[in-house]
Amino acid sequence: MIYLKTDEEIELMRISNQLVAKTLGEVAKAIKPGVSTLELDKIAETFIRDNGGTPAFLNYQGFPNTLCTSVNEHVVHGIPSDKPLQEGDIVSVDCGVLLNDFYGDSAYTFPIGQVAPEVKALLDATKESLYKGIEQAIENNRLGDIGNAIQTYTEDLGYTVVREMVGHGIGKNLHEAPEVANYGKKGNGTKLKTGMVIAIEPMINLGKRQIVQEDDGWTIRTIDNKVSAHYEHTVAIRKGKADILSSFKFVEEILSLQSEK
Ligand code: MG
Ligand code: MG
Repeated sequence: MIYLKTDEEIELMRISNQLVAKTLGEVAKAIKPGVSTLELDKIAETFIRDNGGTPAFLNYQGFPNTLCTSVNEHVVHGIPSDKPLQEGDIVSVDCGVLLNDFYGDSAYTFPIGQVAPEVKALLDATKESLYKGIEQAIENNRLGDIGNAIQTYTEDLGYTVVREMVGHGIGKNLHEAPEVANYGKKGNGTKLKTGMVIAIEPMINLGKRQIVQEDDGWTIRTIDNKVSAHYEHTVAIRKGKADILSSFKFVEEILSLQSEK
C-alpha cells in the first residue's frame, strides 16, 4: 500500500532530505583524485551523526557502510573501498538518512577531475532526465509519465535505461510502494496523488542497458563494463509542480567553486 503523508510529515521529510543534501555537500568538499570512497564514507557517517541523524544504509539488509559509492561501470549499491579515486573516474554517491522517524534519500554522480567528453555528456543527460521525470511528478499524472519522460529523453540521446533497478516510495520506511521505474508508457500505472513521496533515481548507461551483480552480493555493474550515471531526488507530489525535498545546492556550490580554480 502507498502511505500518503500529511503536510507536517512532508516537512519532517524535508529536514531529513536536507541533511542528506548537506552530507553530499561535505562529500563534494573532499572528493578529488587520490581520495578513497571509504574516506568519503567516514566523512558522511560522522557528519550525519553529528547532526543527529542515523545513516540509513548502514546495516540495511546487511549493507556495510553509510554511502553507496558506485565507480564508473558500477551502477548502484557499490561498497566503499580503500582504492583511491583517479582522475577521469565518475562516482555515484548515494546517501540515506533517518531523522525524526523519516527517511531521506538522494544521489549525485561526481566527475573526478577532468572526465572524457562523452562521460561528461552522460552525466549531464542523466541529471537532466531526473528533472524531466520530476516535471511529471504531479497530481493526477501517472507513474508511467515519469518513466516515459526519463526514458524518452535519454534514449533519444543514444543512452540506455537500467530496467531492473528502480526508484521507490519513501517515508517511515526507506523503501515503500510504489516502485518508480525509469521507463514506461505515458498514462500507464498508478495515479499520483498529493501526499505521495517518491524517490526518483534514473540509472543511465553509455552502452548496453543490461546489468549484473558482482560477487560481493551488492554492487551492480553494467554487463559491458561501460560507464553508468545515477542521480536521485526525493520529491513530494503536489498539484502542478513537484516539491523537491532533497537538494543538489550544497554539492553544486562546491563544484562550481572548484571549476573556477
Ligand atoms: Mg538512494
Ligand atoms: Mg533510493
